[in-house]
This record gives sequence, C-alpha cells and structure tokens, in this order.
Amino acid sequence: MLSFYPSQIIEYLYCPRYTYFEYVLRIPQQEDKFYKVQRGREIHNKKLEQNKAYLRKKIGVKNKCLDQYLGIEGLRGKVDEVLELNDGNFAPLDYKFAHWKDKVYETYKQQLFCYAVLIEKNFKSKVNKGFLVYIRSQHKLIEVEVSKKDKQKIQDSMKAMTDIISKNKFPRATSYKKRCLNCTYRNICIK
Ligand code: SF4
Repeated sequence: MLSFYPSQIIEYLYCPRYTYFEYVLRIPQQEDKFYKVQRGREIHNKKLEQNKAYLRKKIGVKNKCLDQYLGIEGLRGKVDEVLELNDGNFAPLDYKFAHWKDKVYETYKQQLFCYAVLIEKNFKSKVNKGFLVYIRSQHKLIEVEVSKKDKQKIQDSMKAMTDIISKNKFPRATSYKKRCLNCTYRNICIK
C-alpha cells in the first residue's frame, strides 16, 4: 500500500478526483502565495507556543510525547502532541494558528482522525477524542470526539486512494457540486 499524509487524505475526502489529477496525472494544485505565507507562519508560531503545560493540566494528562513523526502502512504524519490521558486512553493535540470561529472545520477534524489512527497503531492504545488549540483566540482549547466510524473512514480512504493510483482509476466526482466552483481542476474535469 502507498503511504499518504493527512493532507492528501483530506483532499481525497473533499473530492476523490483530487487524488487522480494530482497523483495519477501529476497535475499540481496551484498553491497561492498567501497560503504559503500562512503555512510558514503557522509552523513558526507552533514552535513558539507548544510549551503550554496548563492546557495539558486542564485536559488531565498523565504523559506526553511532543512532535511525533508516526507512520503505519498507508499513512504517515507529524503529530504536535500525543497525550496519554488519566483514563488510560490516548489523544492527539494539534495547534492551529487560527481564530476560533464557533465551529470546527471538517478538515481539522479529519486531520485529528488521521492522527487517531496513527496513534492507535503506534501506541497500541484507544483514541476516542482529540484536541485543537486555537492560538489566535487565547489558546482556546476544543475537544473533538473521534468515533470508530471516523477512524474507519480514514482507513477506507487510504485503500480507495491506493486503488485510484495503482490502477489508474478515474473516481466519482464529489456529490457536493458547490465544491466544483472554486476547484483548481474545474477546467479539465468532466462533471
Ligand atoms: S471540478 Fe468538482 S468533481 Fe472535478 S475535481 Fe474539482 S471538485 Fe472534484
């Protein structure tokens, strides 16, 4: 099985054809300057803000591992913090250089679900929640539930992506037609 980053899984979940255009036809997405600057800032600020013991205390943390590069067959990624909770379960914590906007974006959730899969396999433990810290809103801490279904969806995506790439399979379009409006591939995609 090929090995994917959470960002690639997130793209697949947005529309399976992203995987085809980007990794089978090798047509890169246009990454604009603004996005690159944002990403740079995020990495910089993450480093400055990671030593937040009070947040871990609030969550109820027994042990922590920082900046963990984890990999399993089909998936790899870097988790800001892997937390062992007082109840014996584990949880990922991810810092976001963002304001809290009263809702957790799907992409943030999916990233945590990927981390949950990585942690369960690497630490041989259960993950049923994850945490996000919104740096630009006074380090607001948000708990996100991680269900069995969420983790299964990530595993199913990994398999489906491997199929698209290894068998040159042209996948179905997203059923959310609104997504096509601003899509990088809208001019070459048959809908
Ligand atoms: S145009 Fe629509 S169907 Fe085609 S890749 Fe983009 S989001 Fe997917």
